[in-house]
Amino acid sequence: MKKDITCISCPLGCQLVVEKKNDDYIVTGNSCKNGIKYGIEEMTNPRRVLPTTIVIRGGLHPRLPVATSDAIPKGKIFDAMAIINQVVVDAPIQLGDVVVKDLLGTGIDVVATKSMPKVS
Ligand code: SF4
Repeated sequence: MKKDITCISCPLGCQLVVEKKNDDYIVTGNSCKNGIKYGIEEMTNPRRVLPTTIVIRGGLHPRLPVATSDAIPKGKIFDAMAIINQVVVDAPIQLGDVVVKDLLGTGIDVVATKSMPKVS
């Protein structure tokens, strides 16, 4: 099995070819070793950072930008959104504040990606 994958680990965006041979994965097209890790992970357990917004009360805007603090398995994105969509926070919020701890038992938090002052 062979798959073409664009490495998104850095802005260079190398075009990888990942080939499964027996129990091994062979990655070509990478300009650095991070591409090998990315290519194999994309074949075995693809993960993504999940950026979204949540409801904030009393803030300058009605929604607060948030994201997972690290990439989560792609297969958990719908379950993650079901949890995140229920979260409501109160302003003020600082950049990096945790709004969901240990999302789905992954050990990864959901954090604010923007500060939001309280509007009185
Ligand atoms: S293989 Fe290395 S250099 Fe190429 S996009 Fe991935 S991280 Fe960047």
